[in-house]
Amino acid sequence: MADEWAEQLTCATQCSRCDQKMGADDQRILSVYDHQAICMQCKNEEEQRPDYEDVSKQMIGQCLIDTEMKWGDPQGYCYHHFYPFKC
Ligand SMILES: [Zn+2]
Repeated sequence: MADEWAEQLTCATQCSRCDQKMGADDQRILSVYDHQAICMQCKNEEEQRPDYEDVSKQMIGQCLIDTEMKWGDPQGYCYHHFYPFKC
């Protein structure tokens, strides 16, 4: 399950929010709202949401607990919600 999840998210070929195509060299980041890979433009918009700070704090706390319990090694997954990465 961890592999499946990681592959789905890190190698998404398009933004799940606006459907813009994303190449292997395009930076992407995970949404704190639904954990889907989104483009940097959508991330900027997400950060403007009034509840972003609260949601992101809750997300990171829960994410760290979940990944540690279920998969043992988070592999930086939770931090991909805050640091852009490439496929
Ligand atoms: Zn987008």
